[in-house]
Amino acid sequence: TTIEMAVTDQLTGLHNRRYLETHFNGLFDESALRARDLAVLMLDIDKFKLVNDTYGHDAGDEVLKEFARRVREATRVIDVVARFGGEEIVVVLPETGLHSALAVAERIRSQVQSESFAIRGGLTQIPVTVSIGVASRRAGDPSPAQMMKRADEALYRAKGEGRNRVIAAAA
Ligand code: GH3
Ligand code: MG
Ligand code: MG
Repeated sequence: TTIEMAVTDQLTGLHNRRYLETHFNGLFDESALRARDLAVLMLDIDKFKLVNDTYGHDAGDEVLKEFARRVREATRVIDVVARFGGEEIVVVLPETGLHSALAVAERIRSQVQSESFAIRGGLTQIPVTVSIGVASRRAGDPSPAQMMKRADEALYRAKGEGRNRVIAAAA
């Protein structure tokens, strides 16, 4: 339907950024009100431009679809999984503290790395890795944007420290 299309990313079938913004706000307010845990993961495929440049844009799209599938598979139904940008996915984890969020991130990182990705309709297999920044809600956080900022900074560090790794912002 038109309404589903407005909140769904067409390539991956994940929620889109618009959906994320609405629902992250709601989950944030609820967790603050009830003093419950809330965590966010920011994922970015490593050297994805190289995939496009080497194998073509369609191959890049195949990788994105499979990446989305693996992230979905590693998360719960209550988690919000959204395509944030080109090769970036954001996951919001309700009722989840930093320690558990790190475990989820590490599971995703491992499931991306451990099995190569099929492209060209299965004719070629290529290795893919992902870097992940993790942040949890702090009592003083005014908005989800503050959590996103810390997750983004952690992701940036993960890239700088060699990629294919999970880094958490200090709780
Ligand atoms: P890094 O490890 O630092 O993240 O390097 P990177 O190459 O992944 O980062 P960069 O941001 O330079 O490249 C992202 C690429 O993602 C560039 C862009 O062409 C590609 N991209 C964005 N959206 C899509 C899409 O829908 N399909 C495909 N195939 N590629 C896309
Ligand atoms: Mg990127
Ligand atoms: Mg990237």
